[in-house]
This record gives sequence, structure tokens and C-alpha cells, in this order.
Amino acid sequence: MTSLPKPRFLVIGSGFSGTVLARQLVEGMECFVEVWDERSHVAGNCHTERDAATGVMVHKYGPHIFNTDNEQVWKYVHRFGDFRPFVNRVKACTSRGMFSMPINLLTINQFFGKTMNPDEARNFIASLGDKTINEPKNFEEQALKMLGRELYETFFKGYTIKQWGCHPTDLPASVLKRLPIRFNYDDNYYEKKYQGIPAEGYTEVIRRILDHPNITVRLGEKFDVSSFHFSLSAFSYIFYTGPLDAFFGYSEGRLGYRTVTFEHVETDSSDYQGNAVINYPDLDTPFTRIHEHKHFTPWEKHDKTVAFREYSKETEPGDIPYYPKRLATDQALLKKYRSLGEGFSISPGGFPVSFLGRLATYRYMDMEAVINEAIVFSENVLQSFREKTAPPVFPNHER
Ligand code: UDP
Repeated sequence: MTSLPKPRFLVIGSGFSGTVLARQLVEGMECFVEVWDERSHVAGNCHTERDAATGVMVHKYGPHIFNTDNEQVWKYVHRFGDFRPFVNRVKACTSRGMFSMPINLLTINQFFGKTMNPDEARNFIASLGDKTINEPKNFEEQALKMLGRELYETFFKGYTIKQWGCHPTDLPASVLKRLPIRFNYDDNYYEKKYQGIPAEGYTEVIRRILDHPNITVRLGEKFDVSSFHFSLSAFSYIFYTGPLDAFFGYSEGRLGYRTVTFEHVETDSSDYQGNAVINYPDLDTPFTRIHEHKHFTPWEKHDKTVAFREYSKETEPGDIPYYPKRLATDQALLKKYRSLGEGFSISPGGFPVSFLGRLATYRYMDMEAVINEAIVFSENVLQSFREKTAPPVFPNHER
């Protein structure tokens, strides 16, 4: 008796979503997975590599600090990497001086020249908040209600205009809700239970996730639906983690993204700024922040340093999409692309495909959310394959 050949799946994209999905598939059923990435390296925007001149591990697409409350996700990444404790203690360089971010009791006391305790500071900040705003409708209203005008204009307004390229009144209040305000001296940028950075970098973690006899990786392999000839004898199913609008050749228009660019800081110093991240919220400084990467690995010693100024701009054709803007026009476009996605498998020239991850679902997602969703999604996919039903096309319902 001959056994049936193992199915082959194609995963487009080797960021955390594609990589975790590939691994879960080969561990969950008898199958082969091919992972394609158009870049020359795995790991997507989490990619890290040692800087040739200094030996410092550099986060090539900007700083990534792993932070999660999710036990399952924390355990998952530990299977593939040695995560060292790292706490991001961001500073903000403003025209009024250098302060601690996110806004905490030290920031408040230093900014207002006071020595308040937590209760006093809470009452003081409440007295500054704009009482006329009940339900904040946007970022600016949320900030004015929570903090008042002076703190908002010093720490948020300019940074947000630079970061998002639009006025804070055009952004959802949820963007500010990512940042806490604290009435104690805790200056940890994140509030999550587990925080760290992989000792050998993210690319090594991803490489290990992909290190399985039934997974093949093809780098420099661009996926383009218009030239891709789907055949069931090659792949029985495609999982796409690239940008949703790119999959459809931007037929309905481009989803709005911000991208960031990095400018190498020329320095002979061994320690350029004394900290991993310093934000520059003033509008007259053109960049948003400077990151100095040796400070992300305090367990390593380096004589030299490497730092980058980060600039934010609108994404143009050829740029790497980073932050989904999700303005009203984008939401309308997303709806169209999602319905194209839902119908794609039965459309002329279509094939069975699911969309997963930050770019394919057009959401602002941290690494932990991407990994968690890939784990949950792969369980649903495996169940569908077992039951011989179609897997979900998207992992989430769009609100
Ligand atoms: N933000 C700001 N000033 C800062 C840091 C952040 O105004 O010094 C705003 C900005 O709009 C940013 C948002 O708060 O997009 C969320 O910050 P977070 O650090 O979460 O941004 P991300 O991780 O997306 O870079």
C-alpha cells in the first residue's frame, strides 16, 4: 500500500507570523512548508545583525523590545532563544530639558519643579486635564483630558505630528492609550510582566524556529500573484503575511502606512548618549528619536558604539511599510481588500489562501500579539485540515 504524499504549504514572509505558523504546521501535522521571503534575510522587520565596525548587535529596522503578559508566548519564544532581561527606560530631550518617559512622578516633579507624592501628583494632573472633554474622540482630546495642554504640547504633540505626519486630532485616541502615565517612579516604558531581548538577536530566534527538517526557506524570492502559477501538485495551500494591498496589486489603491528611515550618527565616542532610546518630541528637531544599540545588550561589552537618528515619513512605492495609519479612508479600503481576500479562492485565477500578521491584516501589532495570533490561527488551521474544511481566510474579525 502506498501512503499519500505529505501536503506542501507555502508561507509568504519570514517575520514572526509566517515563521511561527510554519513551525506549528510541521509540528501539528505531517507536511512540508516552504517559506519565501523577498529580502536577503529572515525575520522581517525584527531582523538583527552584528555591525561590522563595532560588533554591536543592531536592530536593522528599529528597536524591538520583547514584552508580554502572555505566559504561552513567553514560553514559546524561550524554546528558541535565550532572552536576557532588558528594561527600556526612555528619555525625552525637550526644549525644557531632559525628562523620563513615559510620564511618571519624576517627569511630573521635574517638569513642574515640585516634590509631590503620588496622591498629590494625581490630583495635580487631574486639575490640569480638560474637563470639557467627556468622551475623547481623537489622540489630542485624549491627551488634553488626561494631561492638560502643557504636558501634551511638550511630550506628545510634536512627536506625534512627526511620527504620523498628520495632526493628533486625526489620530484615534487608542494610539495614546499605548503609553501609560504613572504616579510613581517606575520609568519602565512597558507595563508587561515579561520583558527582554534575545541574547543572540531576533534573527537567530527566527532561524531556530525555522530549523526543522520539513521547513525550507527561500530568500530573495518575491511573491507576485500576477506571475504566480498556482498548481495543487506544488502547494496545496498558501499563507500570505505580506501587505494585503500588495497581494491584490494595489488594485483598489494603497493602504496608508508610515515608514521610518535611519541616519547613522557619526561619532568617535564609546558612548554617544548613555541610553538605548532618547526621544525628541520638539517639532524643530526633524527626527523622532535616537537609538544607540549597545545599550540593548548590557550583558555585552563594546569599545565602540553605533547609533541612528530615526525619521518618519509617508510610505511611497518601494518603501518598507511600518505603521498602519488606519485613517477613515484606509478603513474603507481595508474593507474592500478584506472582501477581495474572502472571495479570492473562488475568483478566476484564485487559489486557496489565508492572510495572517501585521501587514496582511493591516494592524498596529506588537511582536507578542503577532506570535499569539499565529499560534491560535495555526491551531484553527490544523483543525480545519483534520476536519477537511476550509481554514479561516483571516485570523481576526475587522471591527
Ligand atoms: N508618543 C509621543 N511622544 C513620545 C513617545 C510616544 O508623542 O515620546 C506618541 C506617538 O504618537 C506614538 C504613540 O505615543 O506613536 C505610541 O508610542 P509607542 O512608543 O507605543 O510607539 P511605537 O512603539 O509604535 O513606536
